[in-house]
Amino acid sequence: MSLELVYYGHPALRIKGSLIENIDHHIISLAQEMIQTMYDYDGCGLAAHQVGRSIRLAVIDVLTAMKDRPSRAWRDGEPVTIESITPLVLINPEIIPLGNKTSYDLEGCLSIPEVTAKVYRPARVKIRYQSLDGKRLEIEAEGLLARAAMHEVDHLNGILFIDHLSPEERQEHEIVLKKLQQTQQLL
Ligand SMILES: [Zn+2]
Repeated sequence: MSLELVYYGHPALRIKGSLIENIDHHIISLAQEMIQTMYDYDGCGLAAHQVGRSIRLAVIDVLTAMKDRPSRAWRDGEPVTIESITPLVLINPEIIPLGNKTSYDLEGCLSIPEVTAKVYRPARVKIRYQSLDGKRLEIEAEGLLARAAMHEVDHLNGILFIDHLSPEERQEHEIVLKKLQQTQQLL
């Protein structure tokens, strides 16, 4: 079942997500429905905020975009294939940037349709999270996977990718953003 998405202007997108204390069957089925929704909308990531739930849960699948936007990942210092960690469910995730390298690449968001922009992000990060079975895990990531994880963790803190743009860059998207906001207010 596909869940209903919320769009720019919806208050759920601006709330700091609460920690998930108990990974019960509600959380497990929400994660499964979010994965399905991400596929239905051809997204490479989705945060609970985007389906109107401000809790610290996100899902990621960067496989389809892998051809032109590669990702690399490591667990305990050993490389792991992206296939083996996809779809990735992140509960209570934290991002720890590694090194000083940055990457500047395009982002979009299912909650902000028709807007894409380049955003600076750390190139390599450690992602600390809990899996659906409650295990505390860490992976290191580069490429689109790292970018998607940072984009989703931003959502969990009420931050959108357009918040990273300069005022001039943001101005270019103002008309589309205003329209989205107005539609959201009419609902
Ligand atoms: Zn997004």
